Amino acid sequence: MTDEQKAEPYDVAIIGAGPGGLSAALNLVRARRRTIVIDGNRPRNAATFHSHGFITRDGVSPLELRRLARAELEEYPHYEFHQALATKVTRTGDGFEVTTKAGLAISAYLARTIVIATGTAELMPALPTLRAFYGTSIHSCIECDGWEERGKPVAVIGETPDLADRALFASQWSDDIIVFTCGIAELSAADEAALAARNITVDRRAVTDVVGDRAGLTGIVMADGEVVARTAAFVRPIYQPKLDYAASLELARAADGFLAVDAEGRTSVAGVYAAGESASPGPRQLIVAAGQGARVAAALGFDLVRAAVSDLPALARTVQ
Ligand SMILES: Cc1cc2nc3c(=O)[nH]c(=O)nc-3n(C[C@H](O)[C@H](O)[C@H](O)COP(=O)(O)OP(=O)(O)OC[C@H]3O[C@@H](n4cnc5c(N)ncnc54)[C@H](O)[C@@H]3O)c2cc1C
Repeated sequence: MTDEQKAEPYDVAIIGAGPGGLSAALNLVRARRRTIVIDGNRPRNAATFHSHGFITRDGVSPLELRRLARAELEEYPHYEFHQALATKVTRTGDGFEVTTKAGLAISAYLARTIVIATGTAELMPALPTLRAFYGTSIHSCIECDGWEERGKPVAVIGETPDLADRALFASQWSDDIIVFTCGIAELSAADEAALAARNITVDRRAVTDVVGDRAGLTGIVMADGEVVARTAAFVRPIYQPKLDYAASLELARAADGFLAVDAEGRTSVAGVYAAGESASPGPRQLIVAAGQGARVAAALGFDLVRAAVSDLPALARTVQ
């Protein structure tokens, strides 16, 4: 049962109002598609005060970037916004129903198509004080914050096999890098040779925490009690897509657990698309997510036109 049931289906329900979802929304309302954007207001980059690398907005606060995007959308008559968590998406006869929850209020929206743009969760190494410095002197996105940490003593911390590549990438910004494997990440002989060639050292001890002061990070705490002095760190989270609400759609996944999509963002279920980091294997950056949103919008709009003029199955399944 729901408090509210919208009878007239939207052309599109976009779940997630990060740059992926908002960019899809802008392009869809400009194509005169009746669009509702549903967002739970939990952006991934909420921990930082400044976003970098988005042309014309380098250094803008994440909140301001969203505010500007939503203000642009408000100018279009086909746009609606609902602040709530999507809790369930189910198929209906000729589309989908999205159930949402905002406090105690449950609502449901019908839509012909869905754009999934709810991004990713980040599982961090278990370091109790890490979050205190996350977004200021500890970062996950090297390309986003490398410039701000240039020339500093840098730690690259993680538990995954790509840790050496992350450190090599970071060596564009600092000549003083130590890789901390937490006693978990395994490095191959080739990794070690490449790191040595860039004068990057490796510390294989278990890490128990990070320390710092008002100015920021000061060191990495090892299990044996030593504190290794570092004033900036890049941590490698384990990324997991936020897709619980879409479980009943049984969308195909790629090997990394993110949604399998074709080049234009179509998922394995006709009428369901993915924008931003719900399907992103590439650089996890605002402008990349926004670009994917625009690409999905173009494909989705054209698919709806094709469905209107063809006897073929309305929205072709392209990803298995
Ligand atoms: C600390 C930090 C700093 C960063 N700095 C930069 C930077 O400087 N430059 C840069 O380019 N990138 C930066 N990034 C990366 C950037 O935040 C991401 O690339 C970008 O936000 C991905 O966009 P997205 O639209 O895919 O997802 P998101 O921006 O994460 O948006 C997903 C949206 O979905 C919503 N949502 C999730 N689940 C539900 C649900 N069930 N129902 C409704 N809504 C839901 C969330 O509330 C959120 O608003 C940073 C990331 C972090 C963590």
